[in-house]
Amino acid sequence: MNQTIGSLPGKLTALFSMLFRAAEKQADHKKLAEHILALNKKQSPTDIIHEVALCLKDILNYRLFALVMKKQGGVDIWLDPRMYKKSLEDIILKDFGFENNNSLNYLNHRFYEDEPELSFDMKDLLYYEIHEENMSFRLYMLAKKQLSLYHDEIVNLILQGASVALSRQIRIEDLRDAAVIDPLTGCYNRREFENQLKRNISGAVRHKTKLSLFMFDLDHFKTINDTYGHPAGDKVLKEVSAIVQQNMRTGDILARYGGEEFIAILPDTDKTRAIELADRLRSQIARKTVTHGDHQIKITASFGVSEMGRDTGMEKIIQDADTMLYKAKLNGRNTVMPGIIKILPDKGRDLLKENRN
Ligand code: GH3
Ligand code: MG
Ligand code: MG
Repeated sequence: MNQTIGSLPGKLTALFSMLFRAAEKQADHKKLAEHILALNKKQSPTDIIHEVALCLKDILNYRLFALVMKKQGGVDIWLDPRMYKKSLEDIILKDFGFENNNSLNYLNHRFYEDEPELSFDMKDLLYYEIHEENMSFRLYMLAKKQLSLYHDEIVNLILQGASVALSRQIRIEDLRDAAVIDPLTGCYNRREFENQLKRNISGAVRHKTKLSLFMFDLDHFKTINDTYGHPAGDKVLKEVSAIVQQNMRTGDILARYGGEEFIAILPDTDKTRAIELADRLRSQIARKTVTHGDHQIKITASFGVSEMGRDTGMEKIIQDADTMLYKAKLNGRNTVMPGIIKILPDKGRDLLKENRN
């Protein structure tokens, strides 16, 4: 009897805790459904990952530590922006067998540097891997609680939702890229260039800003192919376009216009600045050596620059750059047309005045 009376509160506690856990689970599943619904409405891998992080925090109080996606084009990585990058990166590099971070493409561009650095080890992390048809991803988490079977089930449900959403988004992006990107150089293709030029011309007219173009063509490129072979020519195209892309501003747009001819849109840039940029690029290209097998290949390029005038037609501004490019070829190549107008320093101007007097 004593036993029965004595155990009654214990049984009630167990019953209440069971009911409470059941209610808690129901609430978790409701939250889970909402997050998975939200995941599927996101339009970029980064937004999907943010939603996964929110979901893990909301339901399990886990911190999403890193998500690494391996797909055809390389390895994308997202790291918790509030944790120090170096310790995370080291773990991932080791885990994937990479020697350095050159192979990683960061999806997040901002890290909060004032966060204290914590040092982590693989053993502190929970680790999941999911395979989809066009990619696989690994997810690393810091768990506050001990992982139970229930937690494992929730994490798996979140990941299934995320993998479907991510893989669909990546497929959409691949298709979008294929339509606008030149596969050899990674620059925009000609069709996309025309779309972007139309958009930029309208913007420049609306905001009354300048807009310039430069066009460049590699000099005697046929000789490169004939001497070193087509793959060497391809490598030259890739490396030259990379130099140009690295040295342009974020808003500038570079496109492959045809074979070994490229074109760039420089928003909010007048002709003088465009000529200066083109000349800087010209000299960088001329200084570059492309290594292909045992060969050290040198190349130069000729540039034509134009600025949008009152006649804002797309054809006119392209035509002007093309005419200037033709002149640069006639002028002996490895040159920019129109050329740089040298502005004399004050001293020189005074001297000129004195001479005139
Ligand atoms: P110029 O200085 O007058 O521009 O002479 P060029 O030899 O560069 O001009 P030309 O038009 O005679 O030759 C261009 C060459 O570019 C011929 C073509 O086979 C080559 N080319 C075009 N597209 C590609 C490509 O994608 N890869 C490679 N390797 N070569 C290409
Ligand atoms: Mg050429
Ligand atoms: Mg050409």
